[in-house]
Amino acid sequence: MNEYDAIVIGVGGMGSATIYHLARRGWRVLGLEQFDVPHEMGSSHGHSRMIRYTLQEHPSYVPLVRRAYELWHQLENASRELLLVTTGSIRAGHAESEFFQGAVAACEQHNIPYQVLTGTETNRRFPGYRLDHDISAVYQADGGFLLPERCIVNHASAALEAGAEVHGRERVLAWEPSGEGVIVRTNKGSYRAGRLVITAGAWASAVVPALSQLAVAERQVLGWFQPERPEHYRTDTFPVFGLNVDEGRFYGFPVFGVPGFKVGRTHHRGQAVDPDQLDRDIYDEDEAVLRQFVERYFPAAAGPALSLKTCMFTNSPDGHFMIDLHPDYPQVSLAAGFSGHGFKFASVVGEIMADLAIFGETTHDLSLFRLDRFENR
Ligand SMILES: Cc1cc2nc3c(=O)[nH]c(=O)nc-3n(C[C@H](O)[C@H](O)[C@H](O)COP(=O)(O)OP(=O)(O)OC[C@H]3O[C@@H](n4cnc5c(N)ncnc54)[C@H](O)[C@@H]3O)c2cc1C
Repeated sequence: MNEYDAIVIGVGGMGSATIYHLARRGWRVLGLEQFDVPHEMGSSHGHSRMIRYTLQEHPSYVPLVRRAYELWHQLENASRELLLVTTGSIRAGHAESEFFQGAVAACEQHNIPYQVLTGTETNRRFPGYRLDHDISAVYQADGGFLLPERCIVNHASAALEAGAEVHGRERVLAWEPSGEGVIVRTNKGSYRAGRLVITAGAWASAVVPALSQLAVAERQVLGWFQPERPEHYRTDTFPVFGLNVDEGRFYGFPVFGVPGFKVGRTHHRGQAVDPDQLDRDIYDEDEAVLRQFVERYFPAAAGPALSLKTCMFTNSPDGHFMIDLHPDYPQVSLAAGFSGHGFKFASVVGEIMADLAIFGETTHDLSLFRLDRFENR
């Protein structure tokens, strides 16, 4: 049986970053991925993922995203490839909403420069938008988006160069503790390692049954629409946005990677799924949810649909990540439940998971992400 210092289950957003950090620290690491590297079956595809400081989710995400930005830029420099496009970001909603207030609070607490704009001011500055006047927007100039597939490719390629081994199309069927290490069984063989890192995305609870109530996969749909005024939806004219309005919470991006203005609705139609049974077909209702929103708030982008694709969130009960050692086995660590806002942090999550595997702890503050917050559930 082949032996490794660490095995990582899942080579997606978080797993590719983890194998990168472990291999660069000289660890002999095996990454096991059930599909291709990269692929379109999980949570990390679709050409763009927002990165922003306006973290209304909780101010304590700001130091993490600051480190994530640094690590993304380091990866860009090493690979000589563009991975992060800066467009500025808009976070907008009603003035009294948690969404708007939380974005302001995150910037205030961490001295991040920002501007508050009315809906009218936003529309004047960025003509692709048509917000109501009484919508309040936080504009932050460092916001933008990552190229998720290229981030995974570059993390995985650099890990391979540093000596990692990656097996695509190999599904982990079971793992068990063995002495102070673990044994991992797949559809192709068995492996032994000193440490196990689980970054299985939507499949987290299949790999760690204790997460079954805590990491719930949800069907999402992304749409790309043909702009009637393409000049308003370019990376140099259109900041990425999150918009919390009566119709729900939506997000969107300028045209990039594939044709079309990209838009999605957070918790699309509220469909919890088994990731192996995800319905990848697209229905009229899927398009209608997105089109109605685009017609109202981005009318110059509401041309014909060009693409529609499914994707999965993995929701935790409180929307915060779960990053911790396994409650019963200290040689096993896990990162799960990224609840639709994890990709921007993948670079720093890789660093954290390498710390947890090597030292059992990290200097990053994980207090928001510990599993014991759910102990009474
Ligand atoms: C539509 C959509 C929009 C989003 N927008 C944003 C955004 O703008 N900004 C942002 O920061 N985040 C965003 N997110 C969230 C972000 O994309 C996810 O949090 C992140 O991609 C999760 O990464 P992951 O590594 O956990 O999952 P994945 O990248 O899916 O990786 C998990 C991997 O584990 C593999 N795996 C699972 N089980 C096994 C097994 N048994 N054996 C072998 N391999 C296995 C899977 O095949 C998969 O490759 C969005 C998500 C979606 C779906």
